[in-house]
Amino acid sequence: MSTLRFNALKETLNRQPIEVNEPKRRSEIFGKNVFNKYAMRQHLTKQAYKSVVDAMENGTKISREVADHISTGMKEWSINNGATHYTHWFQPLTGGTAEKHDAFFELEMDGEVIEKFGGGQLVQQEPDASSFPNGGIRNTFEARGYTAWDPTSPAFIMGTTLCIPTVFIAYTGEALDYKTPLLRSLQVVDQAATDVCKYFDKNVSKVVATLGWEQEYFLIDAALADSRPDLQMAGRTLLGHSSAKGQQLDDHYFGSIPSRVLNYMRDMETECMLLGIPVKTRHNEVAPNQFELAPIFEEANLAVDHNSLLMDVMRKVASRHNFKVLFHEKPFAGVNGSGKHNNWSLATNTGVNLLSPGSTPMKNLQFLTFFVNTIKAVHDNEELVRATIASASNDHRLGANEAPPAIISVFIGSQLTKVLDELEKVTDGKLSPEEKTDLKLNVVGKIPEVILDNTDRNRTSPFAFTGNKFELRAVGSTANCANPMTVLNAIVAKQLIEFKEEVDALIKDKKLKKDEAIFNVLREYIKQSKKIRFEGDGYGEAWEKEAEKRGLSNNKTTPTALKAKVSEKTIKLYEDLNIMSKVETESRYEIEVEEYAMRIQIEGRILGDIARNHVIPTAVKYQNRLIENVVGLKEIYGKDFKKYAKEQMMLIEDISEHIEKINKGITEMTDARKKANKAKNAEETAAQYCDNVKPYFDVIRYSCDKLELLVDDELWPLTKYRELLFTR
Ligand code: ADP
Ligand code: MG
Repeated sequence: MSTLRFNALKETLNRQPIEVNEPKRRSEIFGKNVFNKYAMRQHLTKQAYKSVVDAMENGTKISREVADHISTGMKEWSINNGATHYTHWFQPLTGGTAEKHDAFFELEMDGEVIEKFGGGQLVQQEPDASSFPNGGIRNTFEARGYTAWDPTSPAFIMGTTLCIPTVFIAYTGEALDYKTPLLRSLQVVDQAATDVCKYFDKNVSKVVATLGWEQEYFLIDAALADSRPDLQMAGRTLLGHSSAKGQQLDDHYFGSIPSRVLNYMRDMETECMLLGIPVKTRHNEVAPNQFELAPIFEEANLAVDHNSLLMDVMRKVASRHNFKVLFHEKPFAGVNGSGKHNNWSLATNTGVNLLSPGSTPMKNLQFLTFFVNTIKAVHDNEELVRATIASASNDHRLGANEAPPAIISVFIGSQLTKVLDELEKVTDGKLSPEEKTDLKLNVVGKIPEVILDNTDRNRTSPFAFTGNKFELRAVGSTANCANPMTVLNAIVAKQLIEFKEEVDALIKDKKLKKDEAIFNVLREYIKQSKKIRFEGDGYGEAWEKEAEKRGLSNNKTTPTALKAKVSEKTIKLYEDLNIMSKVETESRYEIEVEEYAMRIQIEGRILGDIARNHVIPTAVKYQNRLIENVVGLKEIYGKDFKKYAKEQMMLIEDISEHIEKINKGITEMTDARKKANKAKNAEETAAQYCDNVKPYFDVIRYSCDKLELLVDDELWPLTKYRELLFTR
């Protein structure tokens, strides 16, 4: 066994749980490190407080003078709470978060030292943005972008740094981050949904999108993870034979959480509480060493920030507990991967969840309106929804019998299907009094009971209605939720705008009553969007065939799927809604295809290195032992030796064959890579990496994994699946 593997195992086996300081009541510390309304009330003037709350709730601008007051209050609060530095915290298109820390400390002209943080520094900063991806928007020599404060997400203290959530924008106005388009999409969906709500309740003046994510992850001992170059650099294993015991017994799911892990969770959740991230649920997942964490849902922008922040916190606390968190969608072949379900809904300022059926027929008509419009939006934009969850790492998961396939469909349950079937029968034009009564009493009036009965949840659906929200389950565990949230908000906003136009037209031109008009439009939507609805087994082969017949897309790889992001339809959607300009949309596409090619390129190199520098030399070493053995047998038995050396000789041959296959695979893969790098543009490069480079991964891996089974365990240099997944 290599020293690295041996030491890693020894270290892991000797680990003790790390003690944790957890408060008795979480409410005592919740949001303690957040400049929330409570902290603001104590540290801001009345006017400044009102101004921030107004900005948070209504999107009003904050004047420069008020910003000076706010920054002073924020600085005092954060220094009192142990901060020495501040940073603009943002989410560049690299994934992850970015920050550049500046000290509050300033030297005045007269040499006096003060702690300073002005309104200007709060509101706007200019990080050196040249090394963030921008998809050709800025040339590096004019690398000027700025970050601007987003008052809708409160500042917080992480360690000793005051972090101010910001957007990141090029000087020419284009968004360079995830947050900017998200904020724009939230504005649009707010406007569109509020307008539609007015049919039902004039008091509604604002609608927010809500998001509750569920984060899945693996936790591996740090020493074990670091003993594998692939885990260290690619975040997933590129080779490794599956262990004799995997997840077949389902004994991990909802089982008791091991104590080292539990202490990690308690510690990490305490940090989350301080940061105001309302984490609530934790449990084991299907695979060994796989877990899930879910919060109470929040307004979508805040929830997106909290998910990014959570991922940072999880990594940091993990290192304290000698763990490594794997967020990758598929760290281990043959073992369940990780996703990040995005539970999404719309809520009004009057406290109504628009996807929750109410207690009166009118409330239920409102529910049905938003319900049917969401289905229609997904139907009309299924390829874009598919594109928004596409990434090199998520490709391993989709359709791999553990996650929904690359086909987008909507599950609503048998009860709501019946309701929609009834609505489909509504008469064209004016409704008779009998029909109205029937709809009121028997169709719309009955929904609350229906939902309570709706227990037949379909786990195989990528987009499922789960009682009071839709759940987009196809999102990958590494993803920034801003992407899918922006798409959902945008397509639903567009849909609601159209809906309102159609209803208004029926009221005006056909002189229909409001309810009649709504029923009429919904009826058509139900018919038009029928093909996206699927209640059966999404994992089954039959569904792929059926979906093809229905004309649904099935874009299996990222390069194919991403194309929908720059289709004319998508560009127009974003332009019409002022969410992104054509330049912004296209630049994002470019970044994503480039990133895709880069990831495959890196993985290809790592795999090549490991196979040639670790696997083959080890196989040769073992083969030499076998040869020695055969030579020895020959010495003893002379010409009869074959009788005793037959198996060994076969092994020697097998090993040579695998070595040959590996070498050939690597050589061919390297050639394919060179060719891909020379392709005419980024899109073509990505396509070639996908179609011509990636297939070699399986070829090379296959022989490496066979060698793992053949070679003496003592010699094998790489920590094995069994050790990674079951040693604690
Ligand atoms: P489960 O799906 O495990 O039964 P829940 O239905 O309670 O659990 O919720 C799962 C996730 O959905 C949680 O993260 C929760 O915060 C989120 N969620 C619940 N209601 C909403 C909502 N109205 N909008 C957005 N997310 C929600
Ligand atoms: Mg879920």
